[in-house]
Amino acid sequence: MKFRRLREKMVTTQIEARGIHDHRVLEAMRKVPRHLFVGEALQDQAYGDFPLPIGEGQTISQPYIVAEMTQALEVTPDDRVLEIGTGSGYQTAILAELAFRVYSIERVMELFVGSRKLLDQLGYHNVIVKCSDGTLGWPSESPFEAIIVTAGGPDVPDKLVQQLTVGGRMVIPVGDRLSQTLLKIRRNQGGAHTTDLGGCRFVKLIGEHGWKAE
Ligand code: SAH
Repeated sequence: MKFRRLREKMVTTQIEARGIHDHRVLEAMRKVPRHLFVGEALQDQAYGDFPLPIGEGQTISQPYIVAEMTQALEVTPDDRVLEIGTGSGYQTAILAELAFRVYSIERVMELFVGSRKLLDQLGYHNVIVKCSDGTLGWPSESPFEAIIVTAGGPDVPDKLVQQLTVGGRMVIPVGDRLSQTLLKIRRNQGGAHTTDLGGCRFVKLIGEHGWKAE
């Protein structure tokens, strides 16, 4: 009950108030129990206006960023969505509420194991997760109507653009290691159209078409 109230307040004050208007996105954010995607000690802070640590040096994104990226993806109930960077699985669950199926890739084994278990417990049976380098995409399941990358890389991996349908959308933070720009890419017949959604800060996208692991 307490968490339901906090969640409602989060949606009203952090998300609707900042201009997110897609009803399906707002409904999904009202529904998914974000506090279950962080450690027990952080549950009371789960609905705050900030990212939180989820272990292994990674973070669960700020609620508003999740809403903004999700709205930009324009997910419909028939869409198959690819997510790079499962992390806690929270963004995955939001997408699972909106899409036909979600394919999600996480490179850190501990996070992969934890999020798979939780998504399963919560009954998200339209989610398929795997542990590997997401910068290569998921060629055998491509193309996807939407691709979301929740870690920041130096540029847009070509491999991912190639795995979008014509008309497909991708949202990805691109920049240096400290700060990035959130880009929305729409693939069309002739190529791709990119829009700038503004500044952001994500953990590093590490892989063959991202930053090299240290
Ligand atoms: N959407 C997640 C965000 C987690 S942070 C959430 O809301 O919890 C980004 C995640 O991307 C981290 O878990 C990190 O391990 C993962 N990551 C970084 N590079 C990756 C890659 N090449 N492939 C798959 N996952 C990657």
